[in-house]
Amino acid sequence: MDKKGDSIRLVEKFTVSIFIIILVVNINLIKANAKINEPFSNMNLNNKTYTISNRISNNNIIDNLLVALTGKVNGYELVLEDRVVGYTSLENNMNNIKDLVLQKYINEINIRQDAVLSFEIEGDIKLKEDRFDVSLLQTNKELSDYIYDLSKEDKNNIKLSLKCIDEEIVKVQPSTTIIPTEDMYLGESKVEYGEVGLKNQVREVTYKNKEITESNIIREEIIKKEVGKKIYRGTKNPYDYGMAFLKSPTRGGYMTSGYGERWNSFHKGIDIAGNIGDDVLVAMDGEVIYSQYNDGGYGNLIIVKHEDNMNTYYGHLDDFYVKVGEKVKKGDIIGAIGNTGFSTGPHLHFELRVDDEPVDPTNYIVQ
Ligand SMILES: [Zn+2]
Repeated sequence: MDKKGDSIRLVEKFTVSIFIIILVVNINLIKANAKINEPFSNMNLNNKTYTISNRISNNNIIDNLLVALTGKVNGYELVLEDRVVGYTSLENNMNNIKDLVLQKYINEINIRQDAVLSFEIEGDIKLKEDRFDVSLLQTNKELSDYIYDLSKEDKNNIKLSLKCIDEEIVKVQPSTTIIPTEDMYLGESKVEYGEVGLKNQVREVTYKNKEITESNIIREEIIKKEVGKKIYRGTKNPYDYGMAFLKSPTRGGYMTSGYGERWNSFHKGIDIAGNIGDDVLVAMDGEVIYSQYNDGGYGNLIIVKHEDNMNTYYGHLDDFYVKVGEKVKKGDIIGAIGNTGFSTGPHLHFELRVDDEPVDPTNYIVQ
């Protein structure tokens, strides 16, 4: 036995062991420091101020040695609905993670950072302190990407919620005022066009994920005032002034029977010859108040009500193109000439009634 040789070998063994420990410590230290000391922001959206955790300032060699020797660190598990979904070293990292999620979110929904009023990650997500393998630690970027992806899946009940200010220049359509005037006859009108205005609209908008769930106008500034549109509408009844004001209810065709006494009866209108199917035009603006078969002799009959309690009648029609309640404009095609009711050949029976009294329309039809 060579005692000297033994002790030298013992020293050698010890030296090699120390060397291996130092090597392991160094490797794990590099690994741990890389994960623990990643930069993080102090910014917090809930307006709380966080200072850098004393975990780093007290980051002493014993902590690091423990990490190095055991491969385990004290840190925080990210728990989603009782399920561990991630690992981070510092509680405060959540602020930075939240901020990274926000950056990704506002880029996607296209909102400026300075327009953001508040931001929340909604859902059952929390941090739990624990001790775990250093290799499990994730960077804030990894965790934020993960949370962002989770928010897009319906099953996780994680929603991103954001309030922001939105500004937009919107057009203001001119209002319309109808001004009755004695300067024009019924059916006549004159329009004074307005001008579109502009206003700056400031809104508070709430997003849930990509959807806008609320939008409230909080302020409006007029940039250019709108100018209202004015419609002058004639009120003078042309009938009272003996003016021709009715459009001919047919295209051409001659009068076969006039208004007045006829055989043993009174003809309440005029008859205009035509062919079955020829267009029947409405004589002035109004509203259809009757459009059906009439067994009093008119056959298929349309009655149109006009302003100032005037009505026009269109009888013996072959077809109706309008329904009761329909608004019609002078010249619209409302039916077809026919031979229905008491009629001896295809023609249009046309009547003008003023205060429900039939009058002779002949002189009121513009030729
Ligand atoms: Zn007739």
